[in-house]
Amino acid sequence: TIIKNPAKQDFILIIDDDVVFISYLKNVLEKKGYSVIAAHNGKRGLALIYELQPSIVFLDIMLPDSNGFSILDNIKKTKKELMFVTVISSNDCKENRIRTLEMGAMDFMAKPIDEELLIAYVSNRLAYKRELEQAIVIDELTQIYNRKFMESQMKLFIKHHQQNKEHFSIAIIDLDYFKKVNDTYGHLVGDEVLKGFASLVKELKEAEEIACRYGGEEFVILMPRTTKKEAFIFIEKLRTSMEKKTFTANGTSFHVTFSSGIAEATSTNLHPKKMLEEADQALYTAKQLGRNQTIIFDNVAAVEKRKVKIKIVVIDDVYIIRDLITNHFKHLEENDDYRIETLSFPDGISFLESNWYDPACKYIILLDWILPQMDGIEVLSKIREQHASSNVIVSMLTSRVGEEYVMKAFINGADDYIVKPFNVAEVSERIVRLIHQMFL
Ligand code: GH3
Ligand code: MG
Ligand code: MG
Repeated sequence: TIIKNPAKQDFILIIDDDVVFISYLKNVLEKKGYSVIAAHNGKRGLALIYELQPSIVFLDIMLPDSNGFSILDNIKKTKKELMFVTVISSNDCKENRIRTLEMGAMDFMAKPIDEELLIAYVSNRLAYKRELEQAIVIDELTQIYNRKFMESQMKLFIKHHQQNKEHFSIAIIDLDYFKKVNDTYGHLVGDEVLKGFASLVKELKEAEEIACRYGGEEFVILMPRTTKKEAFIFIEKLRTSMEKKTFTANGTSFHVTFSSGIAEATSTNLHPKKMLEEADQALYTAKQLGRNQTIIFDNVAAVEKRKVKIKIVVIDDVYIIRDLITNHFKHLEENDDYRIETLSFPDGISFLESNWYDPACKYIILLDWILPQMDGIEVLSKIREQHASSNVIVSMLTSRVGEEYVMKAFINGADDYIVKPFNVAEVSERIVRLIHQMFL
């Protein structure tokens, strides 16, 4: 149902300087509805080959500006599409026939060419071309498109989406516990399940949707002019049909389900690989949540997940300082790279005894030097007994200036120090710089 390029039709190109012969060939073929173009010399012939990618080329050997064989050589080097070249010549000798085959042409025909033979020949070759083109893009087992075709089609759809702003969604489908099907019933039955699933897709899908076998028991469905919500509705219909479908093997019946992830083309994923990655991420979530379900890739959640979680901990016995800093970071704007949370403690013991450490987070601890009961340096040592400085950054807050204090702080594992009295903007700038240096 899908043609790579809908506007593309079969052209037959004749490269010959014999005008009478050209008009004869043209006549015969055009009567049968074929599109025929002619070139009177080799140069023009080559240009038309590049422009039109004809399906069949009738190539004369004796040309005014070149030799047919040198054109063959050129074609061999540059052709992209499937193209049959037939050498025609009134000089029907063994040498020319051999050379024709050696140069990669399909056939040799001697002039004059019989009308009926010509028609039979052209129709045979075009049918064969079609068969070959199908074989290249169809998956043998399931008879739906293969991965290679899917990728080329996806590029076209993405381009189309960029030009026309039409929606475009894809789904990756992975059969659940398929290994178990193979293990329990054998690979042949497994193959039947794959075929059964593919025919279910063919039965339920719309004409312009493209179903492909992506890999073993994984499939991709391309859905042009479809939003992710519409895609969801379709895949859910497919999913519920699949779970109801009964398979049988040596007398017992069983059911197979699938999980699916959906992604829609957006301004940030306009590449087949990127869209597939997003759909795959959603598929992974569907598997994690227990299988037999469809999940839409959620851009916001994915960004949120990627963000580094940073906790800023203020340990200071002066309420104003705790309040000042925590309040400041409360108002710091949301950011795509990280998320900040603040915690505060009036002394080191309550901090150490709290269950503060979460390995999924990064910490910046602003630790006052002078604290009741246990001083800041002791608290610092306790922190460093357990946590290296790659996840936990400690900055001492101190009114003590002087080299020996700075040295003492660093020896005990501090990463930074801030001298009191400070202003919040300055501290904030410093913290943001630390975040960038250490965590991003
Ligand atoms: P999950 O729910 O996590 O997807 O479980 P699963 O068992 O489906 O996991 P996995 O994707 O690892 O297994 C896929 C299996 O599909 C592995 C392979 O033996 C089987 N398989 C791949 N291609 C074919 C095929 O063409 N025919 C058959 N019968 N089995 C295949
Ligand atoms: Mg799989
Ligand atoms: Mg699977």
